Amino acid sequence: MAKKRALVTGGTGFIGSNLLERLLSEGYRVVCMDNLRTGSLKNIAHLQDDAAFECVHHDVTTYIDCPGRLDEVYHFASPASPADFERIPIPILKVGALGTYNALGLAKAKGARFMLASTSEVYGDPLVHPQSEEYWGNVNPIGVRGVYDEAKRYAESITMAYHRHHRVDSRIVRIFNTYGPRMRPDDGRMIPNFIHQALLGQPLTVYGDGSQTRSVQYVDDLVEGFLRLMRSLEVRPVNIGNPVEYTVKEVAGLILELSGSASELIYEALPQDDPKQRCPDITRARETLSWEPQVPAREGLSRTIHWFAERVERSGGGIRPKEIGGPTG
Ligand code: NAD
Ligand code: UDP
Repeated sequence: MAKKRALVTGGTGFIGSNLLERLLSEGYRVVCMDNLRTGSLKNIAHLQDDAAFECVHHDVTTYIDCPGRLDEVYHFASPASPADFERIPIPILKVGALGTYNALGLAKAKGARFMLASTSEVYGDPLVHPQSEEYWGNVNPIGVRGVYDEAKRYAESITMAYHRHHRVDSRIVRIFNTYGPRMRPDDGRMIPNFIHQALLGQPLTVYGDGSQTRSVQYVDDLVEGFLRLMRSLEVRPVNIGNPVEYTVKEVAGLILELSGSASELIYEALPQDDPKQRCPDITRARETLSWEPQVPAREGLSRTIHWFAERVERSGGGIRPKEIGGPTG
């Protein structure tokens, strides 16, 4: 049988590059499409010599031309760090709206199965806890986070419209906080910030009093969820996240412990509309995909700390973290 061919938009980013690697290892031919706004060619450098891999520099907010057969489209292009919501609000709105429209048009033209990378941010600052897919959310449409939240809510809406109206075979994954190798140290999100600060011996910047919660999942668990969802018949949105919930202060403490850093915590202002609590209800993923996260936070964070430490060391600084058993990615 001919190999499946997939397009991954946002493929030079953190999650996209991890997904590309997995698809190649599953025997796919893959096209990575990215405008490098928050991604990096370094994330795909090790794939360049693979004959099954192609990379196209393109902004998906403009018409997407992708010659040849396509079986699957993974639409992952979008900046995702809250630090970017104020910095580049209009590109975020455009990629969620126009980018999703173009990616859906391509999937329709090719008869390809389509997956949208949505987010737990569609639940906003949730009033229901944990969040199941039935919850409609609590989003401030005009706040600084609204550009991302509403773009993703629109993206879900247009995906379902293409599904109902044009019969596009679609999947929606609501991704909860994910971390792992290939996050940018200057990305601005909690885990890369804390790890980078810990390794450099700088204070860890806890926003607010650090009592807000997040549930953090390792990227390999997430990618496994994508593959299972793509192969399933589940058209409804599916939460993919690790339901073990931590306060931000606990995550900071864990990173200090695992990295062996003596950094202290400093407290800074809480960003506007920062969700107070977040934890996925993963009943649907368990029941329809037989999916559960496998990597505990201590293990995933240790692997990630080591990945960051190698890079900090290469640039001539940082502390050496404690030894761990697992691969460093
Ligand atoms: P990332 O910033 O590392 O990757 C995003 C990629 O999209 C980058 O390579 C960027 O250059 C590319 N991109 C942005 N605008 C583009 C455009 N107009 N055209 C082409 N490419 C463009 O972020 P990530 O964490 O890897 O997130 C990937 C996807 O997963 C995003 O859609 C994000 O909303 C979603 N998501 C991520 C998380 C998480 O915890 N990492 C949580 C929820 C949802
Ligand atoms: N956060 C923090 N210090 C940082 C970065 C983030 O305390 O240096 C907090 C942030 O306010 C939020 C949580 O950590 O409560 C997770 O933030 P992140 O940027 O990773 O993503 P979010 O879940 O808010 O989308």
